[in-house]
Amino acid sequence: MHARHALRAALVAVVLVTSASAAHAQVCYRLPFTHVGDPWGCTSACGRTSPHRGTDFPQPSGTPVPAVADGVVRLVTTSSCLGNVVVVAHADGMFSGYCHLSAVSVGAGANVSSGQTIGNVGSTGTCTTGPHLHLTMSDHESGYWTGSTVDGYAYITSHTTCNRAPRGYLDTAACTGIGGWAQDQDTPDAPIDVHVYFDGPAGSPDGHGYPTHATISRPDLCTAIGSCEHGFHMTVPPQYFDDTDHAVYAYRIDAMGGANPLLGDSPRTLHCAPALFDSATSASIPAEMIPSDGGVAHGDGGPVIPVYRVTSGCGCRVAATAPGASSLGACSAVAAAALLRRRRRSRPAPSEAATRASRPSPAGTRRAPCTRRRPGAQA
Ligand SMILES: [Zn+2]
Repeated sequence: MHARHALRAALVAVVLVTSASAAHAQVCYRLPFTHVGDPWGCTSACGRTSPHRGTDFPQPSGTPVPAVADGVVRLVTTSSCLGNVVVVAHADGMFSGYCHLSAVSVGAGANVSSGQTIGNVGSTGTCTTGPHLHLTMSDHESGYWTGSTVDGYAYITSHTTCNRAPRGYLDTAACTGIGGWAQDQDTPDAPIDVHVYFDGPAGSPDGHGYPTHATISRPDLCTAIGSCEHGFHMTVPPQYFDDTDHAVYAYRIDAMGGANPLLGDSPRTLHCAPALFDSATSASIPAEMIPSDGGVAHGDGGPVIPVYRVTSGCGCRVAATAPGASSLGACSAVAAAALLRRRRRSRPAPSEAATRASRPSPAGTRRAPCTRRRPGAQA
């Protein structure tokens, strides 16, 4: 079980990484410094004959220069005009260029994090009149030099927040439970909410939603997504044990209020045979605990457990003949017993099939949804 989950989690992680790099992931930027000298695009206003292709940030020589976003160092070079230059490639397809550096502290190919020092402010190169950072933003690696740049200040300040979509997978939609995992990449170690809808997507008139939380520790997730407590498991509500197909939609809920995407492999189809439930906890009762009279279940010689059968098609809960069970529904205890007997005849559990091979299993005795029969009226 864990091996399968581990494989699936790993596959999903690979797919996510691949699609992110192919489709240009959203990148969060930060300004290197707040004080701007000559802005991008200025000409005569800043004493130039051609437009300024970078944004100048005057700073004392030696001031550490932070990377404006996560990225990979693409170029470390020297230009006669721009002095020492570092170019960092970012996942959104943009390149940040840092010019006139007095020192460089990263090498080509290095991964850098947003805010990490890539060098120091200087005044190297012939096209400078004092210590400052000449920052360029371009969709070309060579944009810092060719001048094919955008307004770096405007670009960065319009990309200071980003919200990555939560990710996850609906592993199972079975009568034993709805399960999978979910994680918000913006808060990768925090628990995340998951909403499970039956019979229709969220917002549709037929969909009925149930909230749950992805907080279960799953060892296979630790390495696949970098955090362990992101599994979820939800008990199937009793009304869906009705021998009918139910679509199951599971959504991961964005911690930052963004879109709530469907989990991978969602929707799935759930189909559960009618079952008996503990009246107090709504927990499913194993078939072997149901006595032949069909009315009540006995725990290992312990107290009688009231049971009931949910008939969702009728919206009617059938109480069994047990103390305290009468409040469970409008249907009579006699009807309950009859229903239970009918179920046991027409749908023997595998373990029963062997011991009751001589008992006929007539076809056509399955109760149609929403059809209430009078006690004893069955064939
Ligand atoms: Zn400049």
